[in-house]
Amino acid sequence: MPSETSPGGVTLRELADRPVTDLQGVGDKRAAALAKVDVRTILDLISYYPRRYLDRTREATIEALGVGEEGMVLVRVARVSARRTRNGRSLVEVRVTDGTGSLTLTFFNQPWRERQLTEGTEAVVFGKMDRYRDKLQMTNPIVDLVGDRTGRIVAVYPQSGSAGLQSWDLDGLVGEALRRVMLKRGFDDPLPAAVRDRYRLIDRATAYGGIHRPESMQEVAEARRRLVFDELLRIQLELVRRKVHLERSALGIVHVTGGQGPNGDLLGTFHERLGFPLTGAQQRTIGEILADLAGASPMHRLLQGDVGSGKTVVAVSALLVAVQGGHQGALMVPTAVLAEQHHLGIADLLAGLVVADSGTLMGERPLRVELLTGYTTAADRRQIIEGIETGGVDILIGTHALIQEGVDFRSLGVIVIDEQHRFGVEQRAALREQGDGGEGAIPDVLVMTATPIPRTAAMTVYGDLDVSVIDEMPPGRTPIRTHWIVDDDDQVWSIVRDEVASGHQAYVVCPLIDESEALEVRSAEETHDTLITGVLSDLSVGLLHGRVGPAEKEETMRLFRSGALDVLVATTVIEVGVDVPNATVMVILDAARFGIAQLHQLRGRVGRGSAESRCLLVGGAPTPDAEERLEALVRTTDGFELAEVDLDLRGEGTIMGERQKGRNDLRLASLRRDREWVEVAREVAIEMVGDGDGLDGHPALADEVALLLGGDEVDYLLKS
Ligand code: ADP
Ligand code: MG
Repeated sequence: MPSETSPGGVTLRELADRPVTDLQGVGDKRAAALAKVDVRTILDLISYYPRRYLDRTREATIEALGVGEEGMVLVRVARVSARRTRNGRSLVEVRVTDGTGSLTLTFFNQPWRERQLTEGTEAVVFGKMDRYRDKLQMTNPIVDLVGDRTGRIVAVYPQSGSAGLQSWDLDGLVGEALRRVMLKRGFDDPLPAAVRDRYRLIDRATAYGGIHRPESMQEVAEARRRLVFDELLRIQLELVRRKVHLERSALGIVHVTGGQGPNGDLLGTFHERLGFPLTGAQQRTIGEILADLAGASPMHRLLQGDVGSGKTVVAVSALLVAVQGGHQGALMVPTAVLAEQHHLGIADLLAGLVVADSGTLMGERPLRVELLTGYTTAADRRQIIEGIETGGVDILIGTHALIQEGVDFRSLGVIVIDEQHRFGVEQRAALREQGDGGEGAIPDVLVMTATPIPRTAAMTVYGDLDVSVIDEMPPGRTPIRTHWIVDDDDQVWSIVRDEVASGHQAYVVCPLIDESEALEVRSAEETHDTLITGVLSDLSVGLLHGRVGPAEKEETMRLFRSGALDVLVATTVIEVGVDVPNATVMVILDAARFGIAQLHQLRGRVGRGSAESRCLLVGGAPTPDAEERLEALVRTTDGFELAEVDLDLRGEGTIMGERQKGRNDLRLASLRRDREWVEVAREVAIEMVGDGDGLDGHPALADEVALLLGGDEVDYLLKS
């Protein structure tokens, strides 16, 4: 196969226009089978990558492979039998030989092996050689049917039993497709040679050859690098293009960030009145936000900061900039509990600030902060909505209700969205459309998240946003000590009792039950009952869960905040935003049921005051992953480090749903394994798009982006 890329060669779009039926040997029946695995065009076919490779140079023989060793042997099936074990599991036993000896393959719970491995079939099996009752055996080995393919490295394609496609069918078709392309004009390579050289990337023709028909595993690795880069670059080009487009085309509000607005220097007054100096990280992020707000294009920024890092002050600063210039601010959060909490806290922070009002005797009135949720009474709601329309309400805090009802702001200047992971892009877009900061200007948007995600993942999932990070905690915090207590309830409750005895308070979070809120509520009620009639009978213990009415919920939170309740038993409704500095113990029952991010959030509810706090993770770990999660929590309180662990354990599922992954252009690339390439792709994309002409200078790449990421592909990616 020629390795040079031909100018004017075949483009991916041309390949996407050719159906697989163009290939010799693909009739209707085979085309239908291919369609079942989503292969319809030649492009689909050459992007159907091998699942793994057999390195035949490392093939052993039955005789040579020692007992206890792992290895690969090429065998022929002599005899197959299937039966059930005493406890009802299916067991298929396959006797195989290779001329040097014979061996039994045993498969548990894989009844279909009986049909796959019929007498005379040749297969490559990989497994550990055991001896059982004097006979050689491999249990549940990996089996590949390779047909009569030769060559040192054999590509193994994902096979589909239901479609009746074998790995060697795909191998043959892919080989034919590549041969046809090379015979024709070779592959066009849209990646500038300078970029290829800089990152030592091979050309596209060599890459497709190397991934499908490698001569060595080294070739596979080089091919993979190039194809991974292509995938990541396309995504970054689209994200950066969108971002640049939004910045250039949308008309934003030029906010007054100094003291010369109609309402004076609200921001300065606010900062002066805080009982503490801002941390360096708060100053820096506020600076980044102010620069955006003063600019002509709308802000579109993500604020990442760990639990307790002081995001509220930063968010309120942004809202105040809107207000001091005579506009309004909105803060949108995912739950009513959180909205209430923020409303209390922010109204408190802003108490005493005034804005201009020519209708009053003094020419000013108190800055007005209101709360609007699904629980707001009809009468209150009418008043608040009127205030929003006339401009009498300066800052509105609320839940999704804010966007669902088309509340009409007089002049919405800044929107802060808290806890981004629960909002999708459409919601962000809907909220932006709400705003009309006069003359059709788009309000500035700040998205806040307390769930740190790794930097490179942020570049992909939030690739259309600028990112600010608060990477410093306010001073005076004593770090939280975390203990994992597998089965010593006495220890757990005696720690709780000791803390209460010394004047502090505790949370007890009940097991997460994903399937059913009703079950979760019941388990919380049961835990509460057990505790108040048992070990905690002499303490005052409150209960909070998703089915508690709003009035009762507010009352319970008030009692806990005031210290009247010693212990609060709750479901994850307290996950976000609850802030009671006197609480020093967080008990999480059956902690293995929670994910890393959730445990980290829950833990963040304590350690908010000066007293040392503890988090008790209770219960065993049913899986190695669960064990690693709990150990990571014990080891570190750094949310970014935990996010990396989470990404390692769960893969991209942490940041994109499976469906999204299936649909998008990330076939080979992994945000986890290919972290450094995400950064490289982002850099290259900014270089290419950032010069002002978008992708005009790279028409072939632009066309590929449109082909592979056109329509709603990127929206799927961004919907978190
Ligand atoms: P986050 O929303 O990031 O979890 P908060 O904004 O709720 O954190 O802040 C956590 C606590 O830290 C609050 O009680 C807040 O008053 C306090 N805080 C914020 N900034 C500072 C600071 N610079 N110095 C001291 N305490 C601060
Ligand atoms: Mg917060």
